[in-house]
Amino acid sequence: MIATSRNSALEPVAAKVEAGKRLSQDDGVALYQSRDIHELGRLANLVRERLHGDAAYYNVNRHINYSNVCVLRCKFCSFYRPYPTGDRRPTEGQGVNGGLSLPLAGEAPTVDSPTVDSPTVDSYELSVETIAERAKQAYDGGATEVHIVGGLHPKLPFSYYTDMCRAIRELCPRMHIKAFTAIEIIHFTRITRPRLPIREVLVQLRDAGLGSLPGGGAEIFDDRVHDEAYQNKVGEQGWFDVHRTAHELGIFTNATMLYGHVERPEERIGHMIKLREHQDESLRARAAAFNCFIPLSFVPDGSALADRPGPTGLDDLKTLAISRLMLDNVPHIKAFWIMQSAKLAQVSLNWGVDDVDGTVVYYDITKREGGSGNTHQELSVDMIRRLIVEAGRRPIERDTLYRRVERQGASWRVEGRCDPENPENPASPRDS
Ligand code: SF4
Repeated sequence: MIATSRNSALEPVAAKVEAGKRLSQDDGVALYQSRDIHELGRLANLVRERLHGDAAYYNVNRHINYSNVCVLRCKFCSFYRPYPTGDRRPTEGQGVNGGLSLPLAGEAPTVDSPTVDSPTVDSYELSVETIAERAKQAYDGGATEVHIVGGLHPKLPFSYYTDMCRAIRELCPRMHIKAFTAIEIIHFTRITRPRLPIREVLVQLRDAGLGSLPGGGAEIFDDRVHDEAYQNKVGEQGWFDVHRTAHELGIFTNATMLYGHVERPEERIGHMIKLREHQDESLRARAAAFNCFIPLSFVPDGSALADRPGPTGLDDLKTLAISRLMLDNVPHIKAFWIMQSAKLAQVSLNWGVDDVDGTVVYYDITKREGGSGNTHQELSVDMIRRLIVEAGRRPIERDTLYRRVERQGASWRVEGRCDPENPENPASPRDS
């Protein structure tokens, strides 16, 4: 029996959610304005359990950031470094992680894991060999996915990216390569000679081994926010062009929203509605669609917006829950524990979230502790499962495309087809 809404402002929204109706811009803003976090959680949970029952998904993955050199200077970003001047070059084969031997995916972090924690991180670029070696190390440890993104490097040729995919594919034949945000894809169209269109760039990457695209670079789809926080970056049209083309080609993608910097709640809701409209079109007429939506909590440390406070825990929780309610056609809502913290990601499993991402191991893009934080950011599989079970959910390992993974140690296989009637097999975008 569903309890009656206690907050009169939310009653019309609650009635829509309970009836399975789509929420409007005004409904989304009303959810943000409400102080009734419990009612918001109840509604988000209702939708989450309709889609996934008590299942909560995670994966065994490894993030690799190939270079922090970037031609842009987005105000919210603490990751980028300019290309060195004079005769200097970015450090090759190093990176924030120091290019040292790394723990295998899924292994518990150790206190003496080798990392370089420098508040004055220099520019770096990893060689294709180093990237493939790191992917292989994770693959041998049982990782099913490698997640690769980096800055918009002014000197690396397009062949660097296709070679990277080929080298990983050769060493790790079954590993899913999820790589390159829409912004990087647009960058590739600009560095090819003659310039290649988005479609051709995606086709060449897919032929080299690319499996899917992550959702980064979306930020907030709003001209005011764009002009204030990342003026020189490709805007929403470019981002949607890449994801539309990927979906037409049958390449699944994710979607994100970077929140908690200069945007307002109504602009966050507008962002979600634009994604929802795109997803409607992809589900109706394209061969692929968004797998999941990942709200990314802004980390001010080390960025040009460091004077901003960034989102609070309550804002994080509300945004995750509201995402579940607004994006009724996106099957999965992920709390990327790196951004919201493992503790809040755990709580959010009862506030609309059904996925907490994976083991990660290293993540250079955001570093806590004043921008100098340790980039070794890893959860063991045991810890992820413990967080999920303690939240009253049932942990299910998935692959990148949300198919169930059966595992014995480092060996694994993907189980069966997606079955919306059986939450043990995660719903695919086409099932929602
Ligand atoms: S957010 Fe991406 S595009 Fe913007 S400065 Fe950082 S690395 Fe470059």
